[in-house]
Amino acid sequence: MTPQRANNNMVTIAERLNNAYDRIAKAEQNGQISDPVQLLAVSKTKPIELIQQAYDAGQRLFGESYVQEAVDKVSHFKALRDIEWHFIGPIQSNKSRHIAEHFSWVQSVDRLKIARRLNEQRPTNLKPLNILIQVNISEDVNKSGCVPSELESLAQFISESKQLTLRGLMTITAKTDDSELQQQYFQQMKDCFDKLKAQYPQIDTLSMGMSSDLEPAVAAGATMVRIGTDIFGKRQ
Ligand SMILES: *Cc1c(COP(=O)(O)O)cnc(C)c1O
Repeated sequence: MTPQRANNNMVTIAERLNNAYDRIAKAEQNGQISDPVQLLAVSKTKPIELIQQAYDAGQRLFGESYVQEAVDKVSHFKALRDIEWHFIGPIQSNKSRHIAEHFSWVQSVDRLKIARRLNEQRPTNLKPLNILIQVNISEDVNKSGCVPSELESLAQFISESKQLTLRGLMTITAKTDDSELQQQYFQQMKDCFDKLKAQYPQIDTLSMGMSSDLEPAVAAGATMVRIGTDIFGKRQ
């Protein structure tokens, strides 16, 4: 067995999960919220064996980014009723039906057209789809997400949609060595979240922070972090 392989055995996934939860726990001591921060295990591009190992280690929240791959995985694990699947990737409108039918959360809603389609396509025998609005907080032209000024109308539409439940906000911040700028973006997200919560008291989820920046995200008030690399290893 190559060392690469050895990294993927069951013990290691469990240990890596433990390490991630330890990091979160330490970061929470500097945080602003009392509820425990949730960990979304981002399994995109990773094989079902590793997802199974994470599940066996107790992990229940998984995130996927690519529709076809994600649908295959969700179908494979259908019998495990307590897995909660979150779609976190860019959404093309011709793929929205697959997302509406297979996921319980979508974290990457950034425009009205997609919200409308998800609402129409969510099967009525399923619970409403939990929605996070993705915010492009750095207003980077290369990144998806709505800009803060579009938040209000999008939030209103989602909150009035029968088959959608508005749960909060998500952001992906660019990798940067400028830790002050990074903290500033996380803080701006927290401000957007608090403002939205004043209007929609039921929202409870602020999804920000990944393998490389979960500490400042939690310190700023993230309620959910999304960890891929640190649990499942580097992606190709
Ligand atoms: C891939 C991905 C992650 C995980 O990033 P890591 O750096 O591997 O932890 C988190 N969020 C989103 C939206 C992603 O696409």
